[in-house]
Amino acid sequence: MAKIMAVNAGSSSIKFQLLEMPQEEVIASGNMERIGLAEGIFTLKYNGLKEETHPVLPTHAEGVQLLLDTLIEKGIVKHLDEIVGVGHRIVQGGEFFKDSTLVDGEDGVVINKIAELADLAPLHNRAHIIGIRAFQKALPKVPEVVVFDTVFHQTMPEEAYMYATPYEWYEKYGIRKYGAHGTSHKFVSDRCAQLLGKPLKDTKIIVCHLGNGASICAVEGGKCKDTSMGLTPLEGIPMGTRSGNLDPTVVSYICEKENKTAVEVVNILNKQSGLLGMSGRSNDARDVTNGMNAGDHRCKMAFDVQAKRIVDYIASYYVYMGGCDAICFTAGMGENLKHLRLNVSRRLGVLGVEIDEKLNDTFSDERLISTPNSKIKLFIIPTNEEVMIARDTVRVGKIKC
Ligand code: ADP
Repeated sequence: MAKIMAVNAGSSSIKFQLLEMPQEEVIASGNMERIGLAEGIFTLKYNGLKEETHPVLPTHAEGVQLLLDTLIEKGIVKHLDEIVGVGHRIVQGGEFFKDSTLVDGEDGVVINKIAELADLAPLHNRAHIIGIRAFQKALPKVPEVVVFDTVFHQTMPEEAYMYATPYEWYEKYGIRKYGAHGTSHKFVSDRCAQLLGKPLKDTKIIVCHLGNGASICAVEGGKCKDTSMGLTPLEGIPMGTRSGNLDPTVVSYICEKENKTAVEVVNILNKQSGLLGMSGRSNDARDVTNGMNAGDHRCKMAFDVQAKRIVDYIASYYVYMGGCDAICFTAGMGENLKHLRLNVSRRLGVLGVEIDEKLNDTFSDERLISTPNSKIKLFIIPTNEEVMIARDTVRVGKIKC
């Protein structure tokens, strides 16, 4: 048995899960938020308890130290030696990282390369490095493994990842599609193959990861063939606050009309668009659903635009893969928003998709929600990125458990 810490470090937060491997049992989980502000928030779940405290967390290093001290204090671990690996989620691995990788020291190739790639994911990659360093300081002898959101998408063929822009942009700056949510797409498609009872290599699966950030992925034989997110997580379908695809001319047009820079407009496309921008109400699907149910046209329109664009991708991936065994819904909206699943599935009738409305309404976790007649099976599969991080930490760190 081995305890592995799965970490997702953001610029002011550290989300974590401590897992017992190989059982994949969650022993503790939680979040450190508001790092660097006057008062932080530390939530910890363990043994069916949920505790919240408000410590001062000047930097990530104090956050990590407090987390480890608390694990001992609460008896969650007796000694820190029990934690034998730390796995870090990293958003952008570019073309360099083709697999999860062991971190080679404080200033080695791995950290330097992640820093170099920060141009493509400035907020995320820099925060991840801070998280890695904080754990290196607190647990210097423990192997650390970096698990990239982009690795799963590295199998996309050239015709799927290239943009039709001057080729020098690709050569000089790496301008191409990298995708995101790869860890989730892999977890869900692997699990879907098990539910289908088919060898992974014989499956064609479309995964709809619909959270605050959302992406669709075509997975053929367990490998990514195409995905909706691009150079950055702005491309693809409309999300909580992100616009998804649009004509790039919108950027220069708004720059001129509102006397803004391109960076400012792209910031609006990232932070004030999507469900929030369309509904004018919220980026949270629950609020937009309440608005829709109360008869607010813009809330209904926001979901219709999103559903239509999800279906555009599904239809295109169906054709690209030459068919599809199953469509999976996952993440906050995919797992919980029955009206969106219904809206999407009804639009797919032409492909022989038939949703079972009762199964779609039932509240339970993983399940089939299509009728026996449906030509493509529909599943809800809750995602579990932390388990994938822990699995890769064990594999790449060669940890015995
Ligand atoms: P992320 O990890 O990208 O921040 P999540 O996967 O947590 O996002 O998904 C967040 C979205 O899921 C929000 O729009 C939220 O409203 C929606 N969501 C979460 N739980 C529910 C629920 N019980 N019912 C409806 N929507 C939900």
